[in-house]
Amino acid sequence: MSFNLSGFSTPSSSDSKNVKVLVLGSGPAGLAAALYAARAELSPVVLTGMELGGQAALTHTIENYPGFPEGVGGAQLGELFQKQAERFGAVVEFDTAQGVDLSQRPFKITTDNGLYLADTLIVATGARPNHLEIPGETEMTGKGVSYCATCDGWFFKDKKVVVVGGGDSALEEGLFLTRYASSVTIIHRRDTLRAGKVLQNRAFNDPKISFLWNTVVTAVDQGDKVTTLKLSNLQTGTASTFETDGLFIFIGHTPNTQLFTGQLTMDEGGYILANARMETNIPGVFVAGEVADNHFRQVITSAGMGAAAAIQATHFLEQEFAQP
Ligand code: NAP
Repeated sequence: MSFNLSGFSTPSSSDSKNVKVLVLGSGPAGLAAALYAARAELSPVVLTGMELGGQAALTHTIENYPGFPEGVGGAQLGELFQKQAERFGAVVEFDTAQGVDLSQRPFKITTDNGLYLADTLIVATGARPNHLEIPGETEMTGKGVSYCATCDGWFFKDKKVVVVGGGDSALEEGLFLTRYASSVTIIHRRDTLRAGKVLQNRAFNDPKISFLWNTVVTAVDQGDKVTTLKLSNLQTGTASTFETDGLFIFIGHTPNTQLFTGQLTMDEGGYILANARMETNIPGVFVAGEVADNHFRQVITSAGMGAAAAIQATHFLEQEFAQP
């Protein structure tokens, strides 16, 4: 380890590890990529990032992943993915990338624990939940404001909760919260839902769920815990207050791509652009999962992208090896 002038430690090249395939992210995309790269005998290393198993691991039950007719817990599915990849030689490290230099190969990836020199890189860093960005939201996170029903639902036994959003996540998580909460009020900014019909029907038929349409939350009152929200009706402009014990926010996601700004080509939303072979603008760098997918966002599509990225990384290395 060496130290730069600002006092931050910078790994020296003697600390570096050479890998053929480095996978960033341990959600379905990253672990499926690791499985395929491991079976190609490329000894991939997976850096888990902050959330082992990615966002899927925070989902209570996944009912649409084939092979599990009764559904499967998100964390359990993540563990199975990991076990299967490790069985073929993948190494999963609890480490997070802090900087990447993709200007030449091997790519340099600086992490919390060292430096990796990677012949190929598979970016599967996923996405994070969007915030409403209203007064009190940040201050009251952990005191009643949450972005994860599976993590925090239990704290709201027999309490009143509000869910914001009109997509699949809002309804799925709202339905999950009915296990604990005495009532779930879904507040949506329009009067039609974006969520699929199956979830809509379940929510409309659930006696614990009610809807507030054309309404937004404008502030979370601050204190020891959440007690009241400020609301505004977008049609009438009427402001009101709403008593609740919890506020769950499910209004979409932002891709985790800050590390790659200026190096990998992205769309206006910050999603990494790739072709059908999961190739980015830099040869040897591939992507998979929600970091490059704002459309499907399913465990199975992310896993499929991970497999495709690893197959393509394998071809890339084989072609290089075949060159005289
Ligand atoms: P989404 O489909 O983008 O829905 C986000 C919701 O939040 C929309 O209803 C949107 O309103 C609302 N919203 C956005 N910004 C807002 C703001 N600032 N204030 C208030 N409301 C706001 O996101 P998602 O529900 O997370 O789903 C993302 C993807 O994952 C989708 O493709 C979905 O199908 C998929 N998904 C699937 C499942 C499943 O199949 N079981 C489960 C979860 C997610 P508008 O409708 O007015 O735009």
